[in-house]
Amino acid sequence: MVLGLHGFSMPDSPGKPKNIILVIGDGMGLAHIALAEYLHKPPSPLAQMEVIGLQKTYSADNLETDSGAAGTAMSCGVKTFNSSIGEDADSMAVPSIMYTAHQHGIKTGFVVTCSVVHATPAVFYAHVDSRGSYEEIAKQLVQSDIDVFVGGGERYFYDRASDKRDLLKELAAKDYKVIRNGDIFGQTHIDKISTDEKIACFTAMDDPPRVTNGRTYLPGIAVDAIEALHQRAENGYFLMIEASQVDWASHANDEEWLAYEMQDMYDMLEGVLKKVKEDQNTLLIVTADHECGYLSLKGKKYPRLEFGSKVHSSQMVPVFATGPGAEEFLGIYENTEIYHKMKKLLGI
Ligand code: MG
Ligand code: ZN
Repeated sequence: MVLGLHGFSMPDSPGKPKNIILVIGDGMGLAHIALAEYLHKPPSPLAQMEVIGLQKTYSADNLETDSGAAGTAMSCGVKTFNSSIGEDADSMAVPSIMYTAHQHGIKTGFVVTCSVVHATPAVFYAHVDSRGSYEEIAKQLVQSDIDVFVGGGERYFYDRASDKRDLLKELAAKDYKVIRNGDIFGQTHIDKISTDEKIACFTAMDDPPRVTNGRTYLPGIAVDAIEALHQRAENGYFLMIEASQVDWASHANDEEWLAYEMQDMYDMLEGVLKKVKEDQNTLLIVTADHECGYLSLKGKKYPRLEFGSKVHSSQMVPVFATGPGAEEFLGIYENTEIYHKMKKLLGI
């Protein structure tokens, strides 16, 4: 072992992580990151990650990808058409890294600030042609056996138009501790839940609120989810954390909302990075699924945002990595390589 930047232990040869944490800033391009770098009190968590690469985000049918296709590329390793969830360009279901990890006894989880059935989390457990099929996606989440999941969208689990199933009861019958969204703010610490139980934690009936409207849970629950998975994992874990609303603020061209979402993401990253440094067995990857807003930064004394559009762009997005196996993420590559690199490093 040699001591790397900032006291990280760098393996002599490309290491094998026991755990992988994949953080996705939805819609986060380089200008979004530059904004956070200007606003965040140093040290920057991303500046402490020694490996940087770039990924190409285009989908099978469009240079401007959506989160379904870009997420499917990272979760399943295939380019597909926009709006697809966990299916290839021929609409065939493809296994995700979470599915394969689960088959190998690796614990799995995700934490998001959108609903749990939204595109970015859904690509890790569901297979549908159209990302808007929320009730179907909810059914597939119940079948997935993901060990820990946190996000909004509780209503798709019991207030259903397509059938009268109560998926909250079905989750409880499958040994999930189900936390309803009314419970979440204040008293719930998911790292204190019995390890005999899996965890379904709903943070909102629909989409969770904007961080500018009082949402505070991401930095705390991200760390609690790491701890909860750590307690359950003998053979390692795979955790996806999404700063979901960076994208929504960018679509809205809302400067204040975006600035606070980026700061919330950085606050989350600080806690996650601290856990990863303590652990030494965990590969942390931070990237985006695509850029949103054609954002550029201007301003002589203070950063000023200029949005070029209200949609996604086809720019490459950065990939930051630290921990065992981080070296794999150097260079320029397709978004599908994120999947292949993670799969190889987990040895599955
Ligand atoms: Mg998303
Ligand atoms: Zn978007």
